[in-house]
Amino acid sequence: MSAHKATAWGYLPVIDAESAPFWAGAQRHKFLFRHCNHCGRNHFYPRHACPACWSDNCEWRAAAGTGRVFSYTVIHQNDNLPFRDVLPYIVALIDLSEGIRVTTNIVECTPETVHVGMPVEVVYEAITDTVTLPQFRPALRAAS
Ligand SMILES: [Zn+2]
Repeated sequence: MSAHKATAWGYLPVIDAESAPFWAGAQRHKFLFRHCNHCGRNHFYPRHACPACWSDNCEWRAAAGTGRVFSYTVIHQNDNLPFRDVLPYIVALIDLSEGIRVTTNIVECTPETVHVGMPVEVVYEAITDTVTLPQFRPALRAAS
């Protein structure tokens, strides 16, 4: 899921066989991750085999969509569309309630109010017919 391609919108994820269920879930407003049935750990980004024990006995599960900010940075300069139109914006590492860490944007939040440990919840933005981006905003409901 780290590969990107340029489009009129900007840079969009390349949906491949391994990540397709994640992106299909996002279109249905579900944040999917992988659970290993062998060692019991959850992992993200989605991979065929568990990164902890290498078992391929993994399944998709839906996250609650809540977590907390582990770390973040505020982007003040980016000349590429569409990012130059949304400056400044926040890129963050979010620890989801399921114990997985996700790189994402925090939206509906100013750089002055974001902070480490801030409770967040997932929101979805349909970018194209095939790409819906999960992003996070300050939580309106309590994180578990
Ligand atoms: Zn495992």
